[in-house]
Amino acid sequence: MDERVLPNEPILDREDDAADDLVRALREEVRALGLWAPHVPPEAGGTGTGFLDYAYLNEHIGRSLWGQLVFGCQAPDAGNAEILHLFGTDEQKGRWLQPLVAGEIRSFFSMTEPEVPGSDPTTLRTRAVRDGDDWVIDGHKWFSSGAEGAAFGIVMAVTDPDAPPHGRATQIIVPADTPGVDVVRPVAVLGHAGRGWTTHCEVRYTNVRVPVTNTLGEVGSGFRIAQKRLGPGRIHHVMRWLGQMQRAFGLMCSYALEREAFGGPLAEKQTVQNWIADSYAQIHACRLMTLDAAHKIDAGDEARVEISVIKFYAAQALQDVIDRAVQVHGARGLTDETPLGHMLMTARAGRIYDGPDEVHRMVVARRVLKTFAEGDGWEFS
Ligand SMILES: Cc1cc2nc3c(=O)[nH]c(=O)nc-3n(C[C@H](O)[C@H](O)[C@H](O)COP(=O)(O)OP(=O)(O)OC[C@H]3O[C@@H](n4cnc5c(N)ncnc54)[C@H](O)[C@@H]3O)c2cc1C
Repeated sequence: MDERVLPNEPILDREDDAADDLVRALREEVRALGLWAPHVPPEAGGTGTGFLDYAYLNEHIGRSLWGQLVFGCQAPDAGNAEILHLFGTDEQKGRWLQPLVAGEIRSFFSMTEPEVPGSDPTTLRTRAVRDGDDWVIDGHKWFSSGAEGAAFGIVMAVTDPDAPPHGRATQIIVPADTPGVDVVRPVAVLGHAGRGWTTHCEVRYTNVRVPVTNTLGEVGSGFRIAQKRLGPGRIHHVMRWLGQMQRAFGLMCSYALEREAFGGPLAEKQTVQNWIADSYAQIHACRLMTLDAAHKIDAGDEARVEISVIKFYAAQALQDVIDRAVQVHGARGLTDETPLGHMLMTARAGRIYDGPDEVHRMVVARRVLKTFAEGDGWEFS
């Protein structure tokens, strides 16, 4: 990361053909180091050695926004690979999982729709109707990250509207070249439309016909599989965010020592010292809470409260720490002379994707209150 990825960020940030070539070259180096695709075990084509090891690795990979792509464990492909590994048939694994993990193709996860609240996906409207041995899919999605140039998507569609809310939807593998799949446009996010992997696309599905053998897991298990994907995935996000926070923290401290104003270094101003101390506290708290949740998951616990706590707490901490680092850098913090501007832009989305802050707070409060309503109360452990 220090020698090959961070110094190459200005080239990678250009997102042009030269950047793509560089990604390919860096990926070869990662393969040669035996670190390729650390999110899945060797039997699925990766080099993973377990959930916790990968969590720790993400803290380093996450220091650069390009790290995950270079190490072959980029979202949403990593999550798609994990669920294909867990729930895919042998045929699905051969056709989609193997080339995905090998880095030969990319994928997208198509759940959120513009017309209904993504926070409450029981309201999804995209329908898949069984017709003989096929599913026929009709719907409208957006924020399908990475859909531009991807080989396939995993589409969350309602297959049984009359089932209980969490049994209505199914995840279906849809090759991107199926007639009726229209990747309409990359939706610009904070002014950035992206290219390929960095896009967040609007996608229309019109009379899209795929065989029922493309069903991932059982019919009606869409939410269960989504939960399987999102829980550990959030730990991995937060570990990457910790990498971002520590990098911003380092830049803030170094610059505060170097830059002088009003007769002395910024590091001697109490406001700046407060920012450093507050950032330290937030980073350390996030790190310990995340590792605690990771250990609980590794021991077989679902850790729903712990995961929701770190999701909203760390997303805010990420934004706070990077924002303070930007402020210490003055105008330079907003330029491309440092990675902070790009980091800040990307960090803002963390408070929305994979569940907005408010929904995670709701999950935490409801679960904690339930223990009090039942007379036990919440035990911190
Ligand atoms: C960068 C980025 C990448 C993404 N990638 C993907 C992807 O690859 N695939 C995919 O399917 N989706 C993706 N998403 C979509 C993301 O998952 C949704 O944006 C998210 O679930 C929120 O849904 P929504 O945008 O429809 O907001 P809504 O559900 O409409 O919510 C709007 C706001 O309402 C508030 N709110 C909601 N519920 C409550 C509540 N109970 N209490 C109080 N306030 C509440 C929150 O402040 C929330 O931000 C991505 C989003 C972003 C920003």
